[in-house]
Amino acid sequence: MRDIILQLEESGKILEPTEMERKELLDAAWDYSNNFIKNIETTKAYEPDNSPINKLDELNLNQPIPIEEIVRILDECIDNVGINPASGGHLGYIPGGGLYSSAVGDYLAAVFNRYAGLFFGSPGAVRLENRLIKWACDLIGYAEGALGNITSGGSIANLIAITTARDAKNITPDRIRQSVIYYTSQTHHCVNKAVRIAGLAECVTRKIPVDDHFRMNGDALRAQIVRDLEEGLNPFYIAASCGSTDTGAVDPFSQIADIAEEYNIWFHVDAAYGGFFILVDELKPLFEGIQRSDSIVLDPHKSLFLPYGCGFVLIKDGKALFQSQHYMANYLQDAYNGLEDVSPADLSPELTKHFRGLRIWIPLQLYGIQPFSDYLKEKWLLTLYFHTEVQKLGFEAGPVPDLSVCIYRYIPEYGEANAFNAALVKWIQSEGTLFISSTNIDGTYWIRIAIVSFRTHLSTIDQYLTILKKGIAAVHAANH
Ligand SMILES: *Cc1c(COP(=O)(O)O)cnc(C)c1O
Repeated sequence: MRDIILQLEESGKILEPTEMERKELLDAAWDYSNNFIKNIETTKAYEPDNSPINKLDELNLNQPIPIEEIVRILDECIDNVGINPASGGHLGYIPGGGLYSSAVGDYLAAVFNRYAGLFFGSPGAVRLENRLIKWACDLIGYAEGALGNITSGGSIANLIAITTARDAKNITPDRIRQSVIYYTSQTHHCVNKAVRIAGLAECVTRKIPVDDHFRMNGDALRAQIVRDLEEGLNPFYIAASCGSTDTGAVDPFSQIADIAEEYNIWFHVDAAYGGFFILVDELKPLFEGIQRSDSIVLDPHKSLFLPYGCGFVLIKDGKALFQSQHYMANYLQDAYNGLEDVSPADLSPELTKHFRGLRIWIPLQLYGIQPFSDYLKEKWLLTLYFHTEVQKLGFEAGPVPDLSVCIYRYIPEYGEANAFNAALVKWIQSEGTLFISSTNIDGTYWIRIAIVSFRTHLSTIDQYLTILKKGIAAVHAANH
């Protein structure tokens, strides 16, 4: 038996590379990532997936291949197809980015693999994450007593928020059908998804009208709540947006907060995309009242330029979050002696988790906050610039952007505008230098630009305006 065990130990040794082998792996990763970044400005932002057969399907995952081959597959099958979110030319949906220093954080977190779920397991990792949550609370204006969690992104963060509200407001199964959720046509679909996953699909939902800036109409909200109360319903949850996906609209928080307080309704803000624009002094007035919300979602993997995989949920009444998420298990009895600091596992559905805090902390600590607020201001100004310039090309533009999303549509001399703009988007996407997306608002087709990537600059926007001109000519030519 001892011999067999020792033999197995020997044959598995490949899993612990030597120092030289570790260096070879890292060198390959370094070369690859270095070339990727060196070429980022000339790499297309979008490449359609045209290959009929995919090499990835043919891989035998049980057989080893060398790192050189692995890197080749990465290049061919993953990094050369679809949207390139690391590109400053990604101007569609809500772009990501991917700060290099954050990737270093991921690498280090994976090497030492600290257990960031429980304070007992890694007091350091948990302290760091709790410091980051406190930092985010300070940014928004939540006082002492607020708690939060670093999630994988905005969707899970929204789910935690509504679950907490459900429990805090005691929406037991017998009360679901009388309880009312308020949102708008501009609310992100992950909020609807969270409602259903939280078992609240049978709540009454009210889509509150928006104004001509696509912001929630506060007067209409109040009127609807009054009607609902008269009908004996239980107004429960208001989901406001801080930067809607379609247009970047910011709802009127002060007015909503007044209403939520008056009628004792949970006031949630989905600031997944827009939240960090609070760092821009000129935009602070838009955020007035956001600190009066009960919960908020922020996505550092959007407007803090980090690679995908991190969101924040912040809950003003931290105890409500703890009560909604905390469980005790027999096998964790050692983990709860002399709790100094609350653990992520008590504040989210996750137990074991990636030490996400490191990927947020390293860039912040390395550069300080100033470059982030400068770049966010740059993106906002680029959007205002685009809003003006695109109209000079004969486009109709939506309202002056609140943040960094602008909608616009070309009005052709003859023919149907929706079809023309759809053809234009198709042309731009197949050209692929830059990537943009579209939306449909009440039957009207709009093209969107969302300027969020840290690599998007004035030259990118000027390039895009040129591409738009070419695209219009191409669609006109195709129509003749
Ligand atoms: C992106 C986004 C979400 C969803 O967040 P994920 O990180 O993609 O899960 C929710 N709300 C808004 C407003 C968003 O922009």
